[in-house]
Amino acid sequence: MHWDIEADVVVVGFGAAGACAALEAAAAGRSVVVLDRFAGGGATALSGGVVYAGGGTPQQRAAGVTDTASAMFDYLSTEVGDVVPPGTLRQFCDDSVRMLGWLESHGVPFEGSLCPDKTSYPTNRHYLYYSGSEVSARDVAPPAPRGHRTRGRGTSGGLLFARLAAATRRAGVQVAGQSAAVRLVTEAGRVTGVECRSLRGAPWWARAAHRGLHRAARKPYLYVPKAGRLMHRPVGWLEQRYGRPLLVGAARGVVIAAGGFGASRELLRAHAPSARGGLPLATPGDDGSGLRLGTAAGGAAALLDRVSVWRFLSPPPALLRGILVGADGKRICDESLYGAAIGDEIVRRGGRAWLFADRATIAAARRQLRGGALWFQRLQARYLLTFGRVSAGTVAGVAAKAGVDPDGLAATVAAYNAVAASAGASDTSASDTGPWDTGAVSADPTGKPADLVAAQDQPPYSLIDYSIRARLLNPAPVLTLGGLVVEPGTGQVLRADGTAVPGLYAAGRSAVGLCSRSYVSGLSIADCVFSGRRAGRHAAATSFRFGAG
Ligand SMILES: Cc1cc2nc3c(=O)[nH]c(=O)nc-3n(C[C@H](O)[C@H](O)[C@H](O)COP(=O)(O)OP(=O)(O)OC[C@H]3O[C@@H](n4cnc5c(N)ncnc54)[C@H](O)[C@@H]3O)c2cc1C
Repeated sequence: MHWDIEADVVVVGFGAAGACAALEAAAAGRSVVVLDRFAGGGATALSGGVVYAGGGTPQQRAAGVTDTASAMFDYLSTEVGDVVPPGTLRQFCDDSVRMLGWLESHGVPFEGSLCPDKTSYPTNRHYLYYSGSEVSARDVAPPAPRGHRTRGRGTSGGLLFARLAAATRRAGVQVAGQSAAVRLVTEAGRVTGVECRSLRGAPWWARAAHRGLHRAARKPYLYVPKAGRLMHRPVGWLEQRYGRPLLVGAARGVVIAAGGFGASRELLRAHAPSARGGLPLATPGDDGSGLRLGTAAGGAAALLDRVSVWRFLSPPPALLRGILVGADGKRICDESLYGAAIGDEIVRRGGRAWLFADRATIAAARRQLRGGALWFQRLQARYLLTFGRVSAGTVAGVAAKAGVDPDGLAATVAAYNAVAASAGASDTSASDTGPWDTGAVSADPTGKPADLVAAQDQPPYSLIDYSIRARLLNPAPVLTLGGLVVEPGTGQVLRADGTAVPGLYAAGRSAVGLCSRSYVSGLSIADCVFSGRRAGRHAAATSFRFGAG
């Protein structure tokens, strides 16, 4: 085989997982090439930059938070289930403090400023927060805030990736951009390289247009997928017209870290119909090509039907006092659960949901919006409080306006208000913004913390629409969670019979990982770091060297 480029380890995809795999392989003294269809960054660079970590990180200690690896393990067991063996989850939790330290050693900054509210994403004043359903699961494990947001303004995933990318280049890794992997090369049953379609030899203007158009389309793609797809169309044409084959040899191993499949309507239709009406949290690079490369080489895929659908009620945190109901008027779940857990519950009940709230709750929510949220959170909440809401002077009246069963709603509201009255927690004039009482014991049957169970008895009443359907200003974000099946100790891609595909590894959202059953904020990037490092380390350590006899 004649290779255009050769290295010990070849990584396909330059997001969080790919960068971490490359860093570990380079640290082991191996030559590493990273291929990316564009310039790298992927979903990681657009993300919130939240990393799930605990067990007593320096940031938790600085915030006065007590946490242990075993509490983290107990809580995460409820989210992760059996998608990875308990030993793998245990290792993730035991190594969590070191993992955050490793990221910091590569320039990624974190900070222990604790957010006092339950929120989907903290403002620029806070960088540590409850990013899952830890408080609702306080019977399982003592709750602790574990969402470590990269310290940087706005959505800080861009900074997280920039720091990892700089570290990767400092480590001597060669990054080959504008090179899309289209096929894995297999010799004698072992993956030994990658065939790409590359713009490396294309005219400068075609490369510049490819780079510029992709960059310009990324954000529209995220918020208005139709517009993003339209803007991105010429990118595919440029690749077809000017792309040339590039063969990259991998003496020790290939790591697939090419993201998920949220941009593939075909794969979403086939595997995750519940994502319909949601807004894929993806870039055009998340077209499932990593998955296809792996399965074409014999790898098995799993949990492709697992998608995380997000429905956050807070900010504003006052809305957590409301009552989330389905079309039958019945309560759906603890409203303080993490947004992806709420989304799961709504999907399970057919995708329709409303939040019942009284005058005091709506007024408090409006007040909180003045300073306690980032611009996109404010925009969504204002839209919901203005256009996404119906109201009436009676419970029956508001139910009729929304198309919710009035008897079911009346019974649910009466039961909720009775719990609030018995707990003496109906004072909705109490502080608007917390601090959140994470220790309070609750009489609420869903386990919602007592200080959030406030009577909804002051007319007029509102029902705010949280159904899962396509809406520009209140989309339901959707993240694909399944991928290639990997060996938990090494990250090697496995066939359906459980044997490994020699020379092939997968990481991040191209693989089944810690967040493949249910997502809490930060768990995807934390899994990218964990699984990327694991794959890079093992690919580098393999004693087999193709071509060396
Ligand atoms: C708006 C938003 C906010 C989010 N916030 C968070 C958060 O705060 N915390 C969290 O944990 N998760 C968050 N997520 C999810 C998280 O960002 C992703 O799941 C994670 O970053 C995926 O990382 P990855 O390395 O697997 O893939 P990516 O970061 O997507 O990288 C994959 C790379 O592979 C390249 N590629 C694809 N196909 C090919 C090919 N055939 N050949 C060569 N290259 C290819 C792509 O161009 C891309 O650069 C968020 C996602 C979004 C969109």
